[in-house]
Amino acid sequence: MLVLSSPSGAGKSTIARTLLEHDADLKLSISVTTRQRRGSEIDGVHYRFVSESEFARMRDTDALLEWAEVHGNFYGTPREPAEIALAAGRDMLFDIDWQGAQQLLDKMAADVVSIFILPPSLGELRSRLKRRAEDTDEVIERRLANACEEIRHWMDYDFVVVNDDLDQAYSSVKAIVQAERLRRDRRPGLFDFVSGLLEEKPS
Ligand code: 5GP
Repeated sequence: MLVLSSPSGAGKSTIARTLLEHDADLKLSISVTTRQRRGSEIDGVHYRFVSESEFARMRDTDALLEWAEVHGNFYGTPREPAEIALAAGRDMLFDIDWQGAQQLLDKMAADVVSIFILPPSLGELRSRLKRRAEDTDEVIERRLANACEEIRHWMDYDFVVVNDDLDQAYSSVKAIVQAERLRRDRRPGLFDFVSGLLEEKPS
C-alpha cells in the first residue's frame, strides 16, 4: 500500500499519475468524495463523485477503509477494491491526506509505505494553485491555510520528498517504490527461489 500525501498543489497528483502510467503493477485506489467535480475530472477515473447521503451510507456500512473531512468535503477509500487488489498481491497507490494515512497505518501498518511530498515554499504552493486555475480564490485560500496543518504531519511518514523539480521528485518516489519491492519480507517467492538455488549442483 503506497500512500502519497501532501498539501494541495505540491505536485502529488502529477507524481501519482506519472507513476501509474509507467508502472503496470501499480493500481490507483479511486476514492469517493462529496466535493464538486472539477472541469478536468472524470467520474470513476479521478474520483467517484457521490452525494453526502451516499457517502454517509458507505461510511456507516463499513464500506470505507478510511475516510476524512478535508477542506470542508468528505473523502474516503472504498474498502472492497483495495482488499481484492491487496489479497491478489497487487500494489496499490492511495492519494489521501494525513488523516487517512494514519487510519491505514493503524489498521495495516506492515503493508503501508508512506511518502510525504513537500513544496519548496508556501509562495510556490500559492502560485501552483493559482496556475492550476481550477479553484476559486476563496477555495485556494482555504487550501493554503490547510497546507500548514497537513505539513505538520510530515514526521508520521516513512519518506519525505521535496518537489522543487518534478522530474527529480518523481525519480525519488520511483526509487522508493523499487527499493520497497526488493525488501526480503515483501517477496514470498524468494524462499523457494533460494532453496532451488541451493539445491543446484555446482558444475
Ligand atoms: P482534492 O480535492 O484536491 O482532490 O483533494 C484534497 C485532499 O484530499 C488531498 O490531500 C487528497 O489526497 C485527499 N484525499 C483524496 N481522496 C482521499 C481519501 O479517500 N481519503 C482521505 N483521507 N483523503 C483523500
